[in-house]
Amino acid sequence: MNLKDYIRSIPNYPKKGILFRDITTLIKDEKAFAETINQIVKKSKKFKVDKIAAIESRGFVFASAVSYLLKKPFIMLRKKNKLPAETFSVDFELEYGTATIEVHKDSIEQNDSVLIIDDLIATGGTAEAAAKLVEMSGGNVSAFIFAINLFDLNGSDNLAKKGYHVENLMD
Ligand code: AMP
Repeated sequence: MNLKDYIRSIPNYPKKGILFRDITTLIKDEKAFAETINQIVKKSKKFKVDKIAAIESRGFVFASAVSYLLKKPFIMLRKKNKLPAETFSVDFELEYGTATIEVHKDSIEQNDSVLIIDDLIATGGTAEAAAKLVEMSGGNVSAFIFAINLFDLNGSDNLAKKGYHVENLMD
């Protein structure tokens, strides 16, 4: 099964010049969804993983299934003002705009090895912000796993250059 066949590409969404890679067409096919989760689980076996963190909101779709299968705690990295208790917060630049992500201060313990999962990496700004949240919390990023790598934006390569382990299912 070629997972790429299940990704729909939509030009000029949400802004002119952006080619949006839509995963709704992948997750509405139960076999393609299961295959995606299985591939992420397989790639995760190379790393020490105490906890799994994912970025709102498409990251949650994949990461919660992975977390369930690996029997590891699931941590939500959420957009600004969504988490009710005390948070750490990081501002960052997006391919289309700016944003803030947050994590509860009590989600990650000192020296936890945290696997970060998201649907897609473009510039890597979101991923770096996620790494900062994990590190501010006292944890280490054991690896990143992305379903889709927009390789022409170099986000994945830049994370690797900074010493992070990065795995992508599709380029
Ligand atoms: P970046 O911070 O530039 O790596 O952007 C990654 C985040 O933005 C991910 O959470 C993606 O879901 C979303 N994103 C960025 N570019 C696209 C795109 N072309 N198609 C779909 N999602 C995107």
